[in-house]
Amino acid sequence: MNEPRKKTIRGIKIRNLNLVMLSVSCILYILLIYSTIQSMHKYNSMVNTTDRHIACEEISTLVADGSNYLTEQVRLYTVTMDTTHLDNYFTEANTTRRRDTALEKLRNYHTDGEAYSYLTSALENSNNLMMQEIYAMKLISTAQGYDMAALQEDIQNTFLTEADQALSPEEMIEKARDIVFGTDYQESKAKIMKDISYFVDNVVEYTQLVQKESSAVLKRSLVRQQILISILFIENLIVFFLIVRLIINPLQIYVKNIKEDKRLEFVGSYEFKYLALTYNNIFELNAANELSLRHQAEHDPLTGLINRGAFDQLKDHFGAIQSPLALLIIDVDKFKLINDGYGHEAGDHVLKKVAALLADSFRSTDYPARIGGDEFAVILTDLSANPKELVQTKIRNMNELLKNPNDDLPPVSLSVGGAYSEIGFTDDLYKKADAALYQVKEHGRCGCRFFDEGTDHI
Ligand code: GH3
Ligand code: MG
Repeated sequence: MNEPRKKTIRGIKIRNLNLVMLSVSCILYILLIYSTIQSMHKYNSMVNTTDRHIACEEISTLVADGSNYLTEQVRLYTVTMDTTHLDNYFTEANTTRRRDTALEKLRNYHTDGEAYSYLTSALENSNNLMMQEIYAMKLISTAQGYDMAALQEDIQNTFLTEADQALSPEEMIEKARDIVFGTDYQESKAKIMKDISYFVDNVVEYTQLVQKESSAVLKRSLVRQQILISILFIENLIVFFLIVRLIINPLQIYVKNIKEDKRLEFVGSYEFKYLALTYNNIFELNAANELSLRHQAEHDPLTGLINRGAFDQLKDHFGAIQSPLALLIIDVDKFKLINDGYGHEAGDHVLKKVAALLADSFRSTDYPARIGGDEFAVILTDLSANPKELVQTKIRNMNELLKNPNDDLPPVSLSVGGAYSEIGFTDDLYKKADAALYQVKEHGRCGCRFFDEGTDHI
């Protein structure tokens, strides 16, 4: 078997295609995953910034509310001198501690820089203001002559200046009110609120900045993801198309070819074409082998004519067709004497010579066969009438040649019996031809007789 010549095959190799598509897919998926992670990262950053924004708003509210509540309670105390406000004040300052809670929360968000400094400044000023407020409350408590031991520790630990101690209760009240309603107090309070407002502005600005930057990145990576998904989709379509073209279609064609016992078409990928080339080589080899085996099975090895088996098949075939035909049975006269006198090898040569003469003398539509040792037969087909005379002439000519050999072979002659049928090969046709042959043998051999249908004799 010939090895298929690789250079004659052109086509896409599935292995290479697979490798390319796999690499492209891997790169696209890696880019897609990277882009998704980036989007997730930016999304988290936006969520965190928003959370922080909300928390900072809460913090600023806590500081402002806490500070305002203290101011309110101290002012109410200086006006009403009701110790309930004193209690409320210190509950806020020591228990509720909104401003301190705010500071704690702020630390959780690691806010540093400008925003943080504004808020800590506000808290610092608020603490300073508290000292003035407690001083004012001490003045009121002293002016009212409250029992200091019953009041809060901060009041007890605050001491009036000597000058203030010398003041009358009315003056003390006046001074206390001046401290918490005066211009200095108002200004300090305003500064605290301004710092809180700056803090909030700063946080808003920061949030906007982060959101702007994150949304820009998010948008870019979403666009990138869309592009990558589209490319992947197109790549999938290409792979699908190529699989159909290079694998599925060729497979279908090959299955059809094999079912129909045909050569494979040269289609599809390199591998399929290579397969087709190899298959076709084997196919041709098999066909040649089959032909040779059939020839051997149907032909006689010595003479090359069709053998008895093939002759019997022809009988069946022409029996079915039912068109006019003639059968000749030919026997070499006294052939045993040739074998005995000249040797078996010479006998073989004589048989070959007879076979060649038969093949030459009859038409291509006739079938000469060797049906026994020195026995031959010819089926004459495609006839319009009984070929008796024509056949007799041919046999006469053949016998002339055989009896006067111009080679080294001994002279021989043929006895021929024939029978004609208008309805194909009938069951008794062979017997009739054989009977005619018998008559020839009986009447001196070297001749040709036909079985006469009309008189039913030779
Ligand atoms: P007849 O005229 O009555 O036919 O006499 P015959 O001697 O030819 O008798 P028959 O036809 O019966 O003899 C056939 C002989 O052919 C017998 C056999 O030895 C010989 N023979 C058969 N096959 C072969 C063969 O392949 N080669 C050779 N050389 N001889 C064969
Ligand atoms: Mg014979």
